[in-house]
Amino acid sequence: MPFTLAIVGRPNVGKSTLFNRLVGKRLALVDDQPGVTRDLREGEARLGDISFTAIDTAGLEDANDDSLQGRMRRLTERAVDMADVCLFLIDARTGITPTDEIFAEILRKRADHVLLAANKAEGRAAEAGVIEAWGLGLGEPIQLSAEHGEGMSELYSALLPLS
Ligand code: GDP
Ligand code: MG
Repeated sequence: MPFTLAIVGRPNVGKSTLFNRLVGKRLALVDDQPGVTRDLREGEARLGDISFTAIDTAGLEDANDDSLQGRMRRLTERAVDMADVCLFLIDARTGITPTDEIFAEILRKRADHVLLAANKAEGRAAEAGVIEAWGLGLGEPIQLSAEHGEGMSELYSALLPLS
């Protein structure tokens, strides 16, 4: 049975970059500027011989500080409810932020199945962030580089039981 994977996490961790890599068409906009991507985006994804529906949670980028938390929460909860499994991305170069902790809390409460991924994991600058990610209590972080295509076989192994 095909499953639905929601890619969630705070702005700028690389969700759309991963979505685009998995979906293979530029259905989600990726941009360094805030305010470019909106809402939820769905695409038919492939990883090796696994096919699934991927959801990119966008639409957080243009929220101002006052509305970000509420909006982030509503959008993430919508994606979580649509998904069989959530892939929670953190930025291994930045390490865990208070906003990441808020996401972790939402996912612990609401999601049936969460996979944790430390993105931007190429190179040594990511090592400390990967170790910090263990502290979220969501299991072993899958080390990814969405931009460089690293860690895709580890992601495949994590998704295989769902396919
Ligand atoms: P989103 O806001 O979570 O959707 O993040 P984006 O996919 O828009 O990416 C935010 C920024 O991180 C962009 O400048 C990307 O090029 C960059 N980025 C995404 N994945 C990686 C990665 O694996 N390594 C590095 N170094 N940068 C990345
Ligand atoms: Mg995005």
